[in-house]
Amino acid sequence: MTRRLVLASNNAKKAAELEALLAPLGLQVIPQGELGVSEAEEPHPTFVENALAKARHAAAATGLPAIADDSGLCVAALGGAPGVQSARYAGEPKSDARNNALLLERLNGVADRRAHFVSVVVLVRAADDPQPLIADGEWHGEILQAARGAGGFGYDPLFWLPELEQSAAELDAALKNTLSHRGAAMRHLLDRLNKQPL
Ligand code: IMP
Repeated sequence: MTRRLVLASNNAKKAAELEALLAPLGLQVIPQGELGVSEAEEPHPTFVENALAKARHAAAATGLPAIADDSGLCVAALGGAPGVQSARYAGEPKSDARNNALLLERLNGVADRRAHFVSVVVLVRAADDPQPLIADGEWHGEILQAARGAGGFGYDPLFWLPELEQSAAELDAALKNTLSHRGAAMRHLLDRLNKQPL
């Protein structure tokens, strides 16, 4: 029987990226929403703690192994903000459009546009797994003066890749997964899983 793995995210676009990256494992990947799992609290100041909280929450609710990504955008001129607050930078309810507008406002007149995305991926075999698999990745770029492109999600339209002369929202999904913070974190995790299967 194909092994099942719960994907601890209710962000459909992020979940689609993770599902594509998990495909080589040949597991049945089930988004937590399909199993009636609510969104976990993310009260922690670090990506790794929040990713672990999300993975544990999904594993506890389902009795299945679970994987979670906690990610965000860190802007150098803003001291690393929005960081772990990326999804809710402009407050509740979560809104990519309001987050992007606030980011542009905070960077108005700021010359240093350097920024990077961070992804920390955590896989737990059970809610009380004493040895979660943890991997991370980064993706470096710059913040544009105005949005470009319609793909991706979150801050992608403002994330400029100077070498490619494209924003992250202008990349096709497969190329984004090759280059991104999430792609890097998932490749590290898959390496670990190849040596130490579920
Ligand atoms: P999380 O779902 O709590 O991990 O929140 C992640 C937030 O970080 C998202 O809502 C986006 O605002 C931002 N983010 C993370 N990864 C990406 C990405 O690949 N592109 C654009 N924004 C991202």
